[in-house]
Amino acid sequence: MITLSGVEKSFGLNKVLNDIALTLEEGSVTALIGPSGSGKSTLLRCINLLEIPQAGQLKIGNEEIRFSPKMRIGKRDIRRISQQTGMVFQNFQLFPHLTVLENITEGLVVVHKWPLDRAIKRAEALLAKVGMQHKRDAWPATLSGGQQQRVAIARALAPSPKVLLCDEPTSALDPELSLEVVAVLKQLAQEGTTMLMATHDLRLAANIANNVVFLEAGEIVESGTSEAIFTQARKARTKTYISTLT
Ligand code: ATP
Ligand code: MG
Repeated sequence: MITLSGVEKSFGLNKVLNDIALTLEEGSVTALIGPSGSGKSTLLRCINLLEIPQAGQLKIGNEEIRFSPKMRIGKRDIRRISQQTGMVFQNFQLFPHLTVLENITEGLVVVHKWPLDRAIKRAEALLAKVGMQHKRDAWPATLSGGQQQRVAIARALAPSPKVLLCDEPTSALDPELSLEVVAVLKQLAQEGTTMLMATHDLRLAANIANNVVFLEAGEIVESGTSEAIFTQARKARTKTYISTLT
């Protein structure tokens, strides 16, 4: 289980996340929706500690960390938490100088200290899962966007993270390529992968997520099951936002 409580993040005087409380049950898929600039990406980045919150608490499995403006978080603590997470970015961010297979084995060998043969076996199994085993030795630049994103998903899953964080995983893709990524995400969801996914694509959210969190101006306005939020949101703001996108 992943729990955030009282999480706050400011950039200078700009408070971007205010008193965020969120629980992700094991095996649940949560869509994080909200207008541009509402803080979705920042919230994901506060879970893998690409950004350090100024206040609050984060628990991922057995690992726990507290934030305070006075306390500097050390590299070792950042690693302890970030290693529990996997991240998929809008623009894939594969290592261009590594092959598809090496993109997956690199982190396992360098960060997680796996022996190379074990890392290769894991990478091959994940490439098969995302339907990319035939491109094992290809360079990222020779792949379509959808193929690159599927490799990026395999890479993020390689060390078996407690949560897969996805930031607009399909928004850089044509509808057709988007479908192949959605199919992979849907399969992972059905297999019980815990996911938190920022998206503007309400169809993707409705298709995959059990839960929806609506964020606006750095605050959680409303959250609930996908069905409750999409069909009977309680807050007027949520209804308006959903109606603008459907
Ligand atoms: P979008 O839907 O457009 O991706 P978002 O909901 O992901 O938006 P964020 O990217 O989290 O929003 O941004 C929230 C706010 O934080 C914005 O006002 C943004 O300008 C600000 N912000 C984000 N990152 C930084 C940063 N590194 N430095 C300063 N301000 C930042
Ligand atoms: Mg964003």
